[in-house]
Amino acid sequence: MTGQTTIPLADLGAQHAAVAGEIAEGWREVLARTAFIGGPQVAAFEREYAGFIGVPHCVAVANGTDAIEIVLRALGVGPGGECVLPANTFIATAEAVSRAGARPVLADCADDDTYLIDTRAAEAAVTPRTAAIIPVHLYGQAAPVERLLPLARRTGIRLVEDAAQSQGARRHGIGAGALGDAAATSFYPGKNLGAYGDAGAALTGSADVAARMRMIRDHGSPGKYEHEVIGVNSRLDSLQAVVLSAKLRRLASWNAARRAAAGRYGELLSGCGAVVRPRTLDGNEHVWHLYTVRVPNRDRVLKELHAAGIGAGIHYPVPVHLTAAYAGLGYREGAFPVAERAARELLSLPLFPEITVAQQERVVSVLTSAL
Ligand SMILES: *Cc1c(COP(=O)(O)O)cnc(C)c1O
Repeated sequence: MTGQTTIPLADLGAQHAAVAGEIAEGWREVLARTAFIGGPQVAAFEREYAGFIGVPHCVAVANGTDAIEIVLRALGVGPGGECVLPANTFIATAEAVSRAGARPVLADCADDDTYLIDTRAAEAAVTPRTAAIIPVHLYGQAAPVERLLPLARRTGIRLVEDAAQSQGARRHGIGAGALGDAAATSFYPGKNLGAYGDAGAALTGSADVAARMRMIRDHGSPGKYEHEVIGVNSRLDSLQAVVLSAKLRRLASWNAARRAAAGRYGELLSGCGAVVRPRTLDGNEHVWHLYTVRVPNRDRVLKELHAAGIGAGIHYPVPVHLTAAYAGLGYREGAFPVAERAARELLSLPLFPEITVAQQERVVSVLTSAL
């Protein structure tokens, strides 16, 4: 990147400054006790995060992809089963399905500038083998999970939320992560709640499902050296739990700052007809993990933003069905036109809680002159 003042897509340094003292103190305690795995900090964070989302059980794991896999396995989704998920998502959603032994079946996203799964297309993709539907709460707002509830109740199909991008989001007052049968989230450093390394969590209202999640994450073991199922090693370590607890205390105010910044982009871009602004679904409290617009000539515009030192990004440049990894699913180009257009036109603008008005004005001025 060249250019005078650079504006990053996200600014993790600014966040660290707010929690540095608390984390140093917490880490000193972990180092003194040497309970690096399964220390009291992990259980404390699980309680705090469950309370924050408003779901009875939180099982902390090593990353978000594992969390989805563990949720699916704990719900009994596996070989022979199909999982319907949106074509426009990070590849991890599909990978977790494959790793659980099930088959990803894709659905297009809604043509309403939310880029969330089209629930009618999801229903149309259901077959007698469908075991779960995985709505992704993309870019920080909840998918309309309730539209899938009648089908799920009728058929027993599980609703599994991919809540990796929606920490603190609400739909009709209910926390994203508490809208379905179970949910998975990621605390990858760039997420709204980010660890200092990889981390994730599985959430559920069911004590039985939570017990299975705990067993699967720890070598299939309900107690030391008992192994009931073939599990995985996917525990959260105590150092990460300290970081997550410290940041969780500030997450609501950070999300509010993101919301204010998103509102400001909305105003700054309102006169710019070439830019399609993101739409918030009625009933949603959005937490703006990403602020994504659609623009013509996206690749050239992105280049000009980068040349001016603006860290815009693309989420995501290739929909799941057009990746080499998932060519084997047999979908053709043209199968999911809304997701494919999104991949060609979407552009994520810098957004983080500490972004200033001046930074946003500069982003918009470079963007509009590039257009
Ligand atoms: C980040 C992310 C994941 C995966 O999380 P990791 O912690 O990177 O494994 C899954 N789904 C979505 C939508 C994500 O954004």
